[in-house]
This record gives sequence, structure tokens and C-alpha cells, in this order.
Amino acid sequence: MAINYKKCPQCGSLNVVKILYGMPTHESFLLSEEGKIKLGGCCITDSDPEYFCKYCEYEWDKQEAINHAYNEIKGIKASVGGYFDGYYEVEIDFESRLLTWRHFSDYYEKTIRQSSLDRFVEALKIIDILNWKSKYIESGICDGTQWSIEIMRNRRNIKEYGDNKFPDEWAEFCRLIRRVSDRNFG
Ligand SMILES: [Zn+2]
Repeated sequence: MAINYKKCPQCGSLNVVKILYGMPTHESFLLSEEGKIKLGGCCITDSDPEYFCKYCEYEWDKQEAINHAYNEIKGIKASVGGYFDGYYEVEIDFESRLLTWRHFSDYYEKTIRQSSLDRFVEALKIIDILNWKSKYIESGICDGTQWSIEIMRNRRNIKEYGDNKFPDEWAEFCRLIRRVSDRNFG
């Protein structure tokens, strides 16, 4: 789980509480007095913020936390393959938009359009790549297929890998890489 919804997207503070809507009970009133929740009032709309930053007073919802987490990505590296068939390796730098592709001694690079990159990032949100597990291992198989993904950020990078086992969205991820690179992957 790489997305922390309770981290302020504006200032980065973790001094964050949930906002509780509706008529407060005695208990929730006491919790709010202690600063453990924020009372959001009785009027509920479909765009009410869910979290409140006690440091900068910013308010947001889950979708904004998700968008913020994906906007923080600086690049992605992905590889898939096996010992005999070699590995496909693709790297995309989100700032320069340079994409590189390798397979054995084949090498290819291009600069992708901003609109292609934006579509790619939107698709990564749909396959929920930031919430994939860090390891997918199927034991007892020799060779087979290994894959790895590294998601680059200013703070700690996220690494995910697998050995003959894949997240449900793996095929879709390979399709996205093929589409953005115009080369084989997977
Ligand atoms: Zn804040």
C-alpha cells in the first residue's frame, strides 16, 4: 500500500484527522474536543472532503490523495522475461518524457508526447499499480518468467517484482507498455 490517504497533499504533514459528517453523537463530540476527528457538519453533499490537516487546515478526499500520489511519480522502469528468451526492459522518464526499450542488444528510444504520458498515468491509476504488493512469488518453478517494476519518486522509490506469479492487472500493464513504446513487452 503506497498511497497514504492520511498524508496532507498540500504540506506533507501526517497530523491529519478524518472528517465526520452528520449529527455528532456525544462520543464523537468528545473525540473532536480531543482533536482526534473533525466534525464536518450535518449537510452532506457528494463532494465532501474526508480528511483535514491540522497543520495547514487543508481538506481533501481519497481521489485527491490518489491523484497526488500519481503526480509525484518521476519515472518508471519495468522488465519482464526469462533466462532463455531474454528480458524486455523499458524505462520512461516522466520529466524529459524519454522512453528507452531494450531486449538483448536491441535498443530503441523515443520522446513520447505529453498527452501519451498523461493517458499512460491515468491508465496506471486504473490498474492501481501503486497498491500492488511488493512481491509475487510462485515457488517450485525453475526458470519461467520474472518481472520487476520500479516507480521513481523524490522520496523512496517503490519496487515490485514477481517470479512466475503476477498481479491480476499484469496483462493490462504489458498492453500499456506496448502501446506507449510501440515495441514488444511481456
Ligand atoms: Zn497540510
